[in-house]
Amino acid sequence: MRKKFIAGNWKMNTNAAQGVELAAALAKAIGSSTDVEVAVCPPALYLSAVGAAIKGSSIGLGAQNCHHEAKGAFTGEIAPAMLLDVGCKYVILGHSERRQLFHETNADVNKKTIAALAAGLTPIVCVGESLAERQANKTSDVVREQVQGSLAGLAGEQILKLVIAYEPIWAIGTGVVATPEQAEEVHADLRSLLTSRYTAAVADKVRIQYGGSVNAENAKTLLSQPNIDGALVGGASLKADGFLAIINGAK
Ligand code: PEP
Repeated sequence: MRKKFIAGNWKMNTNAAQGVELAAALAKAIGSSTDVEVAVCPPALYLSAVGAAIKGSSIGLGAQNCHHEAKGAFTGEIAPAMLLDVGCKYVILGHSERRQLFHETNADVNKKTIAALAAGLTPIVCVGESLAERQANKTSDVVREQVQGSLAGLAGEQILKLVIAYEPIWAIGTGVVATPEQAEEVHADLRSLLTSRYTAAVADKVRIQYGGSVNAENAKTLLSQPNIDGALVGGASLKADGFLAIINGAK
């Protein structure tokens, strides 16, 4: 039985006080409840402050990116061990904004995933097709290639330590959510890819989140699909009430 996992990707939003306020409200409401796994991923600068605000609750702390090297002359970058050092448990990797705006390739995401796993972080590895790719019936080819490239060389026991997020680009931040059927079709396809690359037992344990305009209204139906194991939430994770409603939809 895969535990549902809801993660909030705050992207480049909030200031320190707003982030702490949001995190404290979530921590107060969620407390030590563990029926749904919950994480917040604030901007890197606020990780420590947000980490302090969720301390004592069951909410995990996540970062939005990392570098693949452990240390050295990489101005502006953050190593996986540094994220661990400030209390992170998770790191989002290969988000479509990083792939599109910062030109990250599957090979880059693969190096980061390997480094994050080696440091002891749980990577949330994002994949997803563009609207043009969906309209050209290339969704399966695109997401399969992204998963194979981003997770290249990983053994079954490493796959069990990460989470995949299927995030169709056309649904991110647009208010156009994938239908439960569209999302479920891709999730089931990815699980069958994992079955063929690893074993059915491994594939059955890997959590695959859906991301793209998830909100309090649509979360429950999406999360009731057999292969949708949680959500990566952008905009709707910036308000405590809305994010808590999504978490409730996972119960
Ligand atoms: C995201 O950026 O990961 C995301 C899913 O954003 P939104 O929920 O705003 O579509």
